Amino acid sequence: MPQVDRDSLVLYVDVSHCNLRCAMCPRGGLSGLRNTGRGLMSFELFQRIIDKSIEEKAKIVGLIVGNWGEPLLNVDLPKMIGYFKSKYPQSRVMVTSNLNHLENPEELLESGLNTFRISISGMTQNIYSRNHRGGNIERVLANLLTLVEIRNRKNLKVIRFDLHFLEYLYEHHLKEFHHYL
Ligand code: SF4
Repeated sequence: MPQVDRDSLVLYVDVSHCNLRCAMCPRGGLSGLRNTGRGLMSFELFQRIIDKSIEEKAKIVGLIVGNWGEPLLNVDLPKMIGYFKSKYPQSRVMVTSNLNHLENPEELLESGLNTFRISISGMTQNIYSRNHRGGNIERVLANLLTLVEIRNRKNLKVIRFDLHFLEYLYEHHLKEFHHYL
């Protein structure tokens, strides 16, 4: 673990693009905001930010990518994480995702990722889609099993899967969810 003190920074990369329209989310939910922000950060911009932080001697101990957006839509994500880790090898990297989309899973897991946080609310399509509009729970669970299989096969024990079950009044599936823990 990197040493953390008052000067330590965590770099937060927000994502403005998402493939879902969850009920409680500003990307297209009840707030009335539209899910039209389609911007994805280019690798070159990310690289410039990291290079600048090195130049400024910023002590970055963590990188978090996600939050109100879907980082896996960016095909350059593994390259970005790899670049960050090459400059800050002791730092921790966390990606948050709805896991409805998964491309190049091996590349992603070998990028230097430490924590992969997945939000799930509901274990049947009927319940899941009440919040995660546009999502498919079967696809999410299949993608999760793919990632776990690759992690185990490649012995990437450093990667932790962090499943977040968002509990709503209409859900009764905690038992099924625990099966995946
Ligand atoms: S997956 Fe996340 S970012 Fe996308 S709509 Fe749902 S809560 Fe918002």
